[in-house]
Amino acid sequence: MTQTLLDRAKTLDKNDSLSHFRERFYIPAHDDGSESIYLCGNSLGLQPKHTSDLLAEEMQKWREFGVKGHFLGKRPWMPFHKELTHDLADLVGALPSEVVAMNSLTVNLHLLMISFYRPTKSRFKILLEEKAFPSDHFAIESQIRLHGHDPQAGMILIKPDEGESLIRLEKIWEAIETHKDSLALILLPGVQYYTGQLFPVAHITERARKYGITVGFDLAHATGNVPLHLHRDGVDFAVWCHYKYLNSGPGATGGAFVHERHHQNKDLPRLTGWWGHNQDTRFKMETSFDPMKSVEAWQLSNPPIHSLICIRGSLDLFRDAGGMEPLRKKSLALTGFLEELLLERLADRISLITPAEPSERGSQLSLQIRPGKKLPKQVFEDLESRGVVCDWRYPNVIRVAPVPLYNSFLDVANFIERLEEVTK
Ligand SMILES: *Cc1c(COP(=O)(O)O)cnc(C)c1O
Repeated sequence: MTQTLLDRAKTLDKNDSLSHFRERFYIPAHDDGSESIYLCGNSLGLQPKHTSDLLAEEMQKWREFGVKGHFLGKRPWMPFHKELTHDLADLVGALPSEVVAMNSLTVNLHLLMISFYRPTKSRFKILLEEKAFPSDHFAIESQIRLHGHDPQAGMILIKPDEGESLIRLEKIWEAIETHKDSLALILLPGVQYYTGQLFPVAHITERARKYGITVGFDLAHATGNVPLHLHRDGVDFAVWCHYKYLNSGPGATGGAFVHERHHQNKDLPRLTGWWGHNQDTRFKMETSFDPMKSVEAWQLSNPPIHSLICIRGSLDLFRDAGGMEPLRKKSLALTGFLEELLLERLADRISLITPAEPSERGSQLSLQIRPGKKLPKQVFEDLESRGVVCDWRYPNVIRVAPVPLYNSFLDVANFIERLEEVTK
């Protein structure tokens, strides 16, 4: 690496008030034992060092107390999910009564669509992106079928213009206007998983609600990545996972948001289980369902403590870092640095499909590898063999996500150096 680039990265790291959070994570090692250049937190976040201690505490409690652990110890299991409520609410800009960690993302999507996708004969369509994450596409398609409608007619798929990668907002506005009387639901991502495009949650919600259309967001790539204001923006419901930017481990329990205005609505259909029943009388084991007056009414089962404690571990770090505001600030700097170096040194070899406007993206940049001496997949594999961990998406895209909690400016510089080497 040139001395100037190295010096610059080191200076940026020295002036970064969040740089010490890196030490609170395990950075996976490369084959030669050195730290890998891990830029894959959009796929699986790294493990906070103290999480295994927290997990061990819960194992110890189980060993010591058995069933009594539901009521004893530092964090009794009975109300355990509430250990997360406050910090999760902060993270997504919600009231504590509006968020809960439960199930997994796709399960939550189904459960909330049962309540919030209520098609009628004339209003039964769902607006989504043509290239939605497959699980979201499948969930929507199957829900439409479940209600006896034809997915072909029921799915309004928006897509980028010919030859473009990003969805122009006008496309969304046009689709809303065109289908305003037949749309039952709009379901879009907060941040698009492939391109990294950040959608304006407030604006979309406002436009949809003007016509009485329900709005849900999949925040898998947005939670813990960009600031969110779900309550203020008036979003009806949202779902997310905790294993990407939330560093809670593979398959970690998911998250759900339901806006306060729906909490007391007795007309909403809902799939129910005992954990959604009024907690004060839950153990009377009576069979007339009395829903919690919060998003907790959507809970079905008692939650997996071993997964929730890992979310607690990660939320500790978000809290210690001061929440999304300082993290977003660093994220903008880190991603801006990556973009600047890519454009300066590699513009002939890659193009960026992520929006150039920082307010329209999170921490991920998606790089399209231009046809060169090597096949794009080979470029990715050569990066891997040099200790870079990022993510490959067919046919020619590498997704790179410098995460403000544990990535450094030096990581970015190292990545650039490796990418220059393998595309020479
Ligand atoms: C990661 C991701 C998923 C994964 O769903 P799971 O139910 O957690 O397996 C779904 N949708 C989107 C948009 C994602 O980014």
